Amino acid sequence: MKTLKDYEKVINKCSKCGLCQSVCPVYQQTGNECAVSRGKFIMLEGVLRGDLKLSKNINKYLDLCLKCGKCKEYCPSGIDVCEIFEVAKYEYCKKNIKSRIIWLLESKFVFNNLIKVLGRVQKLLNSDMKKSFFNKQKSVQNKICSEVTPVKQTCSPLKLLYFKGCVNKAYPKVESALKKVLTNYDVELIEKNFECCGVPFLSSGNLERFEQAKQYNLKLMVDDYDYILTDCASCEDTIRGYGVNKVINIADFISQYPKKFIFKKKVKVTFHKPCHLKNTDFLRTILDMCQNVEYVEMKDYDACCGFAGEFVLKNNKLSRAIGIEKAKNIMQTGADYVLSLCPACNLGLHQGFVANNNFKHPKIKNLVEFLALADEII
Ligand code: SF4
Ligand code: SF4
Repeated sequence: MKTLKDYEKVINKCSKCGLCQSVCPVYQQTGNECAVSRGKFIMLEGVLRGDLKLSKNINKYLDLCLKCGKCKEYCPSGIDVCEIFEVAKYEYCKKNIKSRIIWLLESKFVFNNLIKVLGRVQKLLNSDMKKSFFNKQKSVQNKICSEVTPVKQTCSPLKLLYFKGCVNKAYPKVESALKKVLTNYDVELIEKNFECCGVPFLSSGNLERFEQAKQYNLKLMVDDYDYILTDCASCEDTIRGYGVNKVINIADFISQYPKKFIFKKKVKVTFHKPCHLKNTDFLRTILDMCQNVEYVEMKDYDACCGFAGEFVLKNNKLSRAIGIEKAKNIMQTGADYVLSLCPACNLGLHQGFVANNNFKHPKIKNLVEFLALADEII
C-alpha cells in the first residue's frame, strides 16, 4: 500500500497555478480554497513537512471533494489528485476509531447483504409499478436521426463477461434491459459473482477493503472472454484502474454494431455525462441508430451531478446545491428522458430534481434501459 510520503514529489509538482479552481464544482459552489486541489495540496505539503498534523480538520477538507477528476483533466502538471486524496484519507482513517467503525459497514458481509436487500426491495416495488412506456409521452417536433451509421462488425459470437455493478444489483431493471437488448446481438454473456468494483471504498479512504474487492474480482477475470462488459461508467473506470484493458461499457459496445432502435412514438431525450465516463463518442452513433428520438443537449452536460459516494452523506447541502444546477439544465431541455450511464448519477439526478422541487421531471434512465424500451430492434 502506498503512503502519502510516496506522493511527496508529485504533490510538490503543483505549481499553485489555480487552474483547478476554474473547473472544480465544489469550489464554484463554496469559493473555499481548501475545497480545491491547490488548497488541499498546500495542506498536505504542510503535513509532509511535519508542520501540520493529518487532523480531523484536514480530513474534513479531504471529504470536500467529489472525486470527479475535473481538476486532473485540466492540471498542467498532470497530477492524479484523486489518488493522492484517497491515500491521505486512508492514512487519517486507519488511525481513527470512528472511521474504523464506519468501515465495518463496508465489510464484505455487511455491504453485500445490504445490496441484496436493496435489490429485493426494488424487485418488489417494480412488480407493483409496471407501466406502459408511451402512456405519458409528450409529442416532440424534430426528429434528429433515422439512419443507422454502419460500424465494422467484429468476430462473433463475442464472449462478454458481464460485470454487474453493485448499485445496478440493487436496481435490477438495468440488468434485465441489458439482457433484453443483447438478445439482438451474437454474443455469449458470461455471468460471475463479482462484488463491488470498489469505488465507494476509495471514496471513504478504505483502501484495504478496495484491495480486497479488487483481488476478489481479478480472480474471476481469468476466463477466455473477449470483453468485460459493464453497465456503469464508474465500474468501467475502476476496472481499468485494476490494470485490465479489455473493458467496454454497454453504450460503447452497442455503438460498434449497426442496429435500428425503432420507437413508434416520438420522444425527446437528453444525456448527462458521468464524471467517470471517459468519452461520449457512442452517443451520436447510438442516436443515429434511433428512430423517432430527438436529442437535446443540456447546458453543461458533463457537469457533475453532485452525488459521488460519501460526498452526498457528508456534504449533503452542497451535494443538493450542485444537483439543483444540474436539474435546472435538464428541465430547460424539455426532454421526456434524461439518460446516463451510471446508477449513482441517476440517484444524483433524482436528488437534484427533488431539491429543485421538480416533481414532474424527465424520467431518469440508464441509456441501455431506454434502448430496451424501443418497440423494435432490428
Ligand atoms: S491545476 Fe494542478 S498545478 Fe495548478 S494549482 Fe491545481 S493542482 Fe496545482
Ligand atoms: S476531484 Fe473534482 S471536486 Fe475534487 S478537487 Fe478536483 S475538481 Fe474539485
